[in-house]
Amino acid sequence: MIIVLVGAPGAGKGTQAGRLVETYGMVHLSSGDLLRDERKRGTDLGKLADSFISTGTLVPDDVVIKMILGKMRELNASDVILDGFPRTVAQAEALDVALAAEGQKIAVVPYIKVEPATLLDRLGGRLTCRADGSHLYNAKYNPPAVAGICDIDGSLLYQRDDDMPDKIKTRLDTYFAQTMPVIEYYRVKGLLREINGEQDIEQVWADLLTAIGKTSESLPSLVG
Ligand code: AMP
Repeated sequence: MIIVLVGAPGAGKGTQAGRLVETYGMVHLSSGDLLRDERKRGTDLGKLADSFISTGTLVPDDVVIKMILGKMRELNASDVILDGFPRTVAQAEALDVALAAEGQKIAVVPYIKVEPATLLDRLGGRLTCRADGSHLYNAKYNPPAVAGICDIDGSLLYQRDDDMPDKIKTRLDTYFAQTMPVIEYYRVKGLLREINGEQDIEQVWADLLTAIGKTSESLPSLVG
């Protein structure tokens, strides 16, 4: 099952994707996490991506498409959550072509919808785990048990450079200009499932499970 999780930066995609991984063992492919990892390791791709990431603009389509499709092929997983990709219509089209060539297709596109004012507030307080970028907290709304430390693996938490106030605005502007058309692209195809991302994390989770056709009865932890 291939799921494309869409929504603005700060909508809660990473948090919900982390839950899908924990609960169903799905593979989480976050283009942002992959790019940050390349940057940390100082690879050619990381160096190329650096100036885009740090200004909050998009890395060129051809680079990201090659990276994600390569990773999907390498992992060859049956249950995948794509997060942060596709972010442009060109990326969405390239994904469809690549999947069709393998006889695969996207199952569903949950869209976690959050108002711009909430996004600004959330991104400004966001704290990310150094060891795993899908372990996310918010100083105000979802603080860790011990300040500055990840509840899950004990690693240090940090504020991403692109979560600084001056970068947040560029990222949101970029999202509304370049990624909203992707949402329309999937709406036209009948794949989009809109979820109210203003709700608390548990309610978003419940709605997400409904959107992807899973119910609480199908939770592995409740079976047997
Ligand atoms: P994210 O963690 O998804 O917010 O991504 C962080 C940054 O990585 C973005 O602001 C972009 O600079 C870059 N990035 C991530 N995914 C993509 C993508 N699909 N296309 C282009 N740039 C991307």
